[in-house]
Amino acid sequence: MTTAIDHLAALTGYRDRDLLDVTLAHALMDLLHPCGVRVHKLVGEAGQQRWLLRARLDEGQVAAVSDPPWVAFEDLPDRASEPLLSECVDNQAVVVGQRGDRHLLLFPLFAEADAIGAVEISTPEPVAEATQRMVNSILRIYRNFNGLLDYSERDTLTGLLNRKTFDEAFLKTAHAQAASAGAAAAGRRSDTPTSHWLGVVDIDHFKQVNDRYGHLIGDEVLLLVARILRSTFRFQDRLYRFGGEEFVVLLRCGGEDDATAAFERLRQNMASYAFPQVGQVTASVGFTEVLAGDAPSAAFERADQAVYYAKQHGRNQVCGHGDLVRRGLLKDATKVGDIELF
Ligand code: GH3
Ligand code: MG
Ligand code: MG
Repeated sequence: MTTAIDHLAALTGYRDRDLLDVTLAHALMDLLHPCGVRVHKLVGEAGQQRWLLRARLDEGQVAAVSDPPWVAFEDLPDRASEPLLSECVDNQAVVVGQRGDRHLLLFPLFAEADAIGAVEISTPEPVAEATQRMVNSILRIYRNFNGLLDYSERDTLTGLLNRKTFDEAFLKTAHAQAASAGAAAAGRRSDTPTSHWLGVVDIDHFKQVNDRYGHLIGDEVLLLVARILRSTFRFQDRLYRFGGEEFVVLLRCGGEDDATAAFERLRQNMASYAFPQVGQVTASVGFTEVLAGDAPSAAFERADQAVYYAKQHGRNQVCGHGDLVRRGLLKDATKVGDIELF
């Protein structure tokens, strides 16, 4: 018989957050035998948040399902449209409800001190108090483990991802790119075409900010830049601080024009932001398409070359590596594939 301890071992056995939520749903299903378990998370900026379904498992189902990884934000239910979930998060407490003849029990999900989602369990009978306590204990372990993941994967100043997880995420992206290229070649591309892009964002003259206003104000600028990054890109795009005043964005969009527009929006959002005390701070952006079979270092190098070009040509601008190569302004030194030419 599977015990609660087995489930805890499974829960803490992955370093992948997608799997963590799915494992949580399976653990609760196995331990409580409810009609269904759902793991909901809030995504988006404060004031305009929506509900993302991270895992749903119904009685008799073998595998949990979830919202697709690239679901459009606008298609997700509004925070206010789910009053029970909202109440659970707002009060950071268990909420009891009813849907038809099912009893609903909602538990808040925490990251650090904040409730960031809720687990919904539906049962034919009310859940006994001892069982509720067990669920609460499992969720405490989930919270602690999530905290450990954050500690190892996130930059302490800005809360953005740190460099450590970049390679793995990049390779997943390059793999997805190869799969979609394969599907396209076989004439099976059904939905709108997508591509992945890697951008390197480097703050202009940041040393001067530190020299003039001190490191503390410099750190404040880095924090605000992280906030601008979050509000500029979609919630699924991966945002990294690569150390110092260099940020990396891994995004998915329709094509080169969309990527250019997204990075240009970031440049404008930064240039038009009034940083307290400092005033205007700008950034230079270089970006490149993630190609099928790309290596993280090769793509990073291409984006970095484009940043270098932007720095050499006036800063506060966005340069695409592909565009620079096409216009003969940059030599394509790296080739993707079996052979790398330098
Ligand atoms: P450029 O426009 O050519 O990028 O000029 P820059 O001054 O931004 O470039 P450079 O890379 O030479 O300088 C980066 C500076 O960033 C050096 C250092 O003072 C500062 N810096 C790096 N990490 C941190 C940090 O964590 N906090 C603060 N406050 N400053 C940092
Ligand atoms: Mg730099
Ligand atoms: Mg800089």
